[in-house]
Amino acid sequence: MREKAPRFIQVALPLPLFQTFTYAVDEGLANPIAVGSRVVVPLRSGKEVGVCIGISDVSPLKRKPKAVLESPDLDPAISPPLLELCRWMADYYIVPLGVVLRTVLPAALTGADDPRPSRKTRRLVRLGADIPSLLQRDKTFARANRQRTVFELIESLGGKTSVENLRSQLDFSPSVLKTLEKRGLIVLDEEEVERDPFAMRGGIAATRLEPTPAQQHAISTMASAAKGAVFLLHGITGSGKTLVYIELLRRIVDERGQTAIVLVPEIALTPQTVDRFRAAFGDRVAVLHSALNEGERYDAWLALKRGEKRIVVGARSAVFAPLDNLGAIIVDEEHESSYKQGETPRYHAREVAIMRAKNEGALTVLGSATPSLESWANASAGKYTLLSLPDRVGGGRLPSVEVIDLRRIPTGYNAMAQGGVDYGAVIREPLHDAIVETMRRGEQCILLLNRRGYSSFIQCFECGAVATCPHCSITLTHHRNPERLICHYCLHTEDPRPDCTRCGGRNLRQRGLGTQQVERLLCERFPSARIARMDVDTTSGKWAHTRILDRVGAGDVDILLGTQMIAKGLDFPNVTLVGVVDADVGINLPDFRASERCFQLLSQVSGRAGRGAKGGRVLIQTRLPNHHAVRYAVGHDYIAFVRNEMEGRRDPPYPPNVRLANIVFSGVVEDSTAKLAIHAGEWLRELISTRAGDEVMVVGPAPCPVERIKSRWRWHLLLKSEHPGELTRVSRYFMERFEVPSTAQLRVTLDRDPVALL
Ligand code: ADP
Ligand code: ZN
Repeated sequence: MREKAPRFIQVALPLPLFQTFTYAVDEGLANPIAVGSRVVVPLRSGKEVGVCIGISDVSPLKRKPKAVLESPDLDPAISPPLLELCRWMADYYIVPLGVVLRTVLPAALTGADDPRPSRKTRRLVRLGADIPSLLQRDKTFARANRQRTVFELIESLGGKTSVENLRSQLDFSPSVLKTLEKRGLIVLDEEEVERDPFAMRGGIAATRLEPTPAQQHAISTMASAAKGAVFLLHGITGSGKTLVYIELLRRIVDERGQTAIVLVPEIALTPQTVDRFRAAFGDRVAVLHSALNEGERYDAWLALKRGEKRIVVGARSAVFAPLDNLGAIIVDEEHESSYKQGETPRYHAREVAIMRAKNEGALTVLGSATPSLESWANASAGKYTLLSLPDRVGGGRLPSVEVIDLRRIPTGYNAMAQGGVDYGAVIREPLHDAIVETMRRGEQCILLLNRRGYSSFIQCFECGAVATCPHCSITLTHHRNPERLICHYCLHTEDPRPDCTRCGGRNLRQRGLGTQQVERLLCERFPSARIARMDVDTTSGKWAHTRILDRVGAGDVDILLGTQMIAKGLDFPNVTLVGVVDADVGINLPDFRASERCFQLLSQVSGRAGRGAKGGRVLIQTRLPNHHAVRYAVGHDYIAFVRNEMEGRRDPPYPPNVRLANIVFSGVVEDSTAKLAIHAGEWLRELISTRAGDEVMVVGPAPCPVERIKSRWRWHLLLKSEHPGELTRVSRYFMERFEVPSTAQLRVTLDRDPVALL
């Protein structure tokens, strides 16, 4: 008999190569392989998990290719629409398909040695026999009292329970269960349990709110929209955007039986947001929190894939949730830069969401009080439908915002006292008075300083030298408890020195202010106040955010001090004062989005004040009261800010007036890095003049604003174009053909639609 012809598959592997690989499929594999199935294949001397992206009866290779080792998926892990989305990402962001697929799969499914992750199980026990009469019972158990007690406890629990529950009520040795099982009196079973860490927050009372007319209008417009429509929901802070999302999802999920994805910035995955969705949809919601471990993530993924959960709430990567019959994707706080992934593939979850929703006939809702300029421009151009919620719910008004001009309001104290800064220089009198007044009324304050650490840098008073990181061109931030100098880029730490490394001078001073220092000053000034600090340093624990915010919600905190983490999503009616300690942090960064970010931060943090009937007040300390980012945030004037900012991005053009790709060259030798970047610039100009006409512009190369990170020198150049297709073609040609010498650890990365150029 003739042997059955072997079939072949194309496999995408997570390698930095723009190609796929052919493997043979021999008989005897556990599961049939389809497009989208994971396969374990031999690679060099080891093995790797890849995804089948094509099947054929012939091989393009001369030799018989190596054979697939395992086919762990009964059902393909990647559905056809998700694969299509991955192909788009690979194409648009110029990344190998296998690398994209690796990002989309849950980590638990990517181990070649163990491609079938185990699930957590629990042991169940149920009665195996019925012993109705007392007589029989006495006979059965005789003097085995322990067996009888256990048997009767199971009986009293309805004939079925978990072993864990049994143990919590009764102390008995494992042999008792074994004997009972052997005698056929009970049956022991294993059951898969889902690891849902949010279950422990328990049920949440759901008071169903009646939408306001403005909310209702937004809900019905979106609910009756055509497939693939994109909405920009511009609702001021406190206008009730969350209720709009929830009511829209009731229509889509409850009435139409579809599924939905809700994206929120990681920071907003606070108990408040999660509780609201859980209150409305109960255990149909899966929450993908970054604090989940691999197993918990996998469980959530599986529950979504099996259709047991139909709504996912999560950060960036939740856009890849394995849901069928998708009805909507909501992107809350769509302007947030955390939607952009900082490493390859450098995708933007908002753009991926729109693409996925269009492919699958779902609608996209982008919500924000301060939409990104890109989304605003798309709405103005008619690509998205703009919906507005111009008022706060329940007749609440936006808080009044006042500026404290740091150049004019005197400190009244010695601002540069030895060992740090004086309270009076940090919290000027009007802000101080407002804090005192707020606490006196039993209300709460939020204070923002978007810089963590103790002081921002250490400077020599003699020669002016500043302590910098030995691996990065970044000043070291001074932290206390323990006393360390830390690089916020590479996490290099060192002990503070007694003298200047440049001139040997012994007069070193701490300059600039961080949240740690402000916390100390506040504690000294208000010894009986309950002060909580929230920044990267205080929230490293798994549920640290939740704990701090639950305390604020319970009224156990008078002053919540923190970085940008406290600016978003929080809804506490008793917060009546918001103070910005220094609005100018970051405003002068050499990045085209610096003003936009500053405006968004000030608007968002202002939005935390006055969410209740008591109203609210915002005080902003700044040296730049006339900067448009500050001025329009004070006036709550988003439209005026956009007009002004858009003008500033016309010449030279920056997004949204043009599309960008940032190409970064890095290496451990400064000279080779510079040479590579200069050569690439010439190479690209040559390419563009011969092929692309003048539709793509090359800017640079130049050293990056942060010239060195983690011992690597960095140069960059920008590609600008009004034609996304041309930009893709040039970028792809460059990434596939440009040769990078294998010296000095040289590396080239391309960042399409960068959110920052630092
Ligand atoms: P946003 O996200 O737009 O800043 P939220 O969704 O946090 O606003 O809503 C602000 C507050 O208003 C919340 O406490 C919310 O419960 C309340 N709220 C929203 N809609 C209504 C409504 N229709 N009736 C009563 N309260 C509402
Ligand atoms: Zn460093």
